[in-house]
Amino acid sequence: MSIAQLARKNIQVLTPYQSARRLGGKGDVWLNANEYSVSPDFNLTDRTFNRYPEPQPQNVLHAYANYVGVQVENLLVSRGGDESIELLIRAFCEAEDAILYCPPTYGMYAVSAETCGVKVKTVPLTTDFQLDLSEIDHNLSGVKVVFVCSPNNPTGNLIERTHIIQLLEMTRNKAIVVIDEAYIEFCPQATFVNELKNYPHLAIVRTLSKAFALAGLRCGFTIANAELIQILQKVIAPYPLPVPVSDIATQALSAEKVAEMRSRVKKLLNDRTFLINQLTELLQVEKIFPTEANYVLVKFKNGNETFKWLWEKGVILRNQHQALGLQNCIRITIGTDDENSKLINLIKSMC
Ligand SMILES: *Cc1c(COP(=O)(O)O)cnc(C)c1O
Repeated sequence: MSIAQLARKNIQVLTPYQSARRLGGKGDVWLNANEYSVSPDFNLTDRTFNRYPEPQPQNVLHAYANYVGVQVENLLVSRGGDESIELLIRAFCEAEDAILYCPPTYGMYAVSAETCGVKVKTVPLTTDFQLDLSEIDHNLSGVKVVFVCSPNNPTGNLIERTHIIQLLEMTRNKAIVVIDEAYIEFCPQATFVNELKNYPHLAIVRTLSKAFALAGLRCGFTIANAELIQILQKVIAPYPLPVPVSDIATQALSAEKVAEMRSRVKKLLNDRTFLINQLTELLQVEKIFPTEANYVLVKFKNGNETFKWLWEKGVILRNQHQALGLQNCIRITIGTDDENSKLINLIKSMC
């Protein structure tokens, strides 16, 4: 008997999440994980390394509550947004229950569900990457958690507000609706935080990994009504946040650092327009999809070839060729001016 056979059946057959880091690559231009290209700088101020941390560090909660405009009771802080996704599944799904999500979208919903031994239902997005509400309605039986990513990763578009409202109405008293707002700082007006008062079954996932430029910190949040947050409190690990993480997260959420984040976003949105204009000129580009996030989905005439050419030249992007309906598409994170122009020049030099 091998050790592998001792593992749970669902783990034996599980394909782990193909994270950008796991896929590897060798280069100096990393535009494959929607990270920010430059690290912000912090000093540690809390040196109580001998003590267990607070289960939910109050400084972080107060700072984030202030940033979002909610109460501390509406927040859970966790090890990245990814932990929030898993906690929601663990807290609400029995083995016979299912989650529902709409591909092409973020891969962690499926991986987390499979890890937990929970069923997965998929209802593909429409050709314009919106929710297929009637199909969702037909597939809701046995579904306990519905994931909606807006802006959607990897397509970049927002999901229509009125459609999400309809989804919230059709799932009332049946299922939790999770809106993944990992990229909301790039289009803050689109948040659903103001709908929390209307929907006890709404949960919003947030992160410091994207606009706050702190993917290495591993800090994320769930925003929801107090009753839902209390359920998640039951399943989260006793000390999810290391002392250095809460120390830096608190600093990153100060008024000064939030203002820095907003100006970083403002510059990125300009750079995005500039990059898109340059991409439009390229012979190899077939289509550029509208985006509200810090990345852009581009359809090439030969996506695989373009991806490999750039990979070999040390410009690492995210190939979406295998994603549902995204043949020949590549997701490109907006980088620094130098990174963006290196990318453009390399594609130009291909033909
Ligand atoms: C990056 C991302 C997250 C969360 O990332 P963490 O680094 O775990 O906070 C969640 N959802 C989507 C769609 C993302 O792209």
